[in-house]
Amino acid sequence: MTGRDRTRRGGTRWNVVKRQAFERDRAANAPCWICVAEGAEDPTIDYSLGYSTGPRAYEADHYVPVHDHPELEYDLANIRAAHQSCNRRRGKRASISQLGSPSRDWRRGLRG
Ligand SMILES: [Zn+2]
Repeated sequence: MTGRDRTRRGGTRWNVVKRQAFERDRAANAPCWICVAEGAEDPTIDYSLGYSTGPRAYEADHYVPVHDHPELEYDLANIRAAHQSCNRRRGKRASISQLGSPSRDWRRGLRG
């Protein structure tokens, strides 16, 4: 049994799922959903960069946080295209219901 691995990212299963998400979103030229939600000027992702190679590169982001719904971690329907920087800035605490709020502290950095 490898029960200790169940809650960790980076396992084989996640590697498979994130690759599937990358191929799916690259084919659709999907923009960063976080940038879209925030109304960013340029939500496009440069898929030629590959997976998670820099701030503007693609990362698979969980639309519904896995923290709240661990059963959705490997559900492609729950995975959205995001920039590496947006995904990491968002972290685990923000949910979609918070993205619409104008005064979240994590948004203030964007406004300068
Ligand atoms: Zn973004």
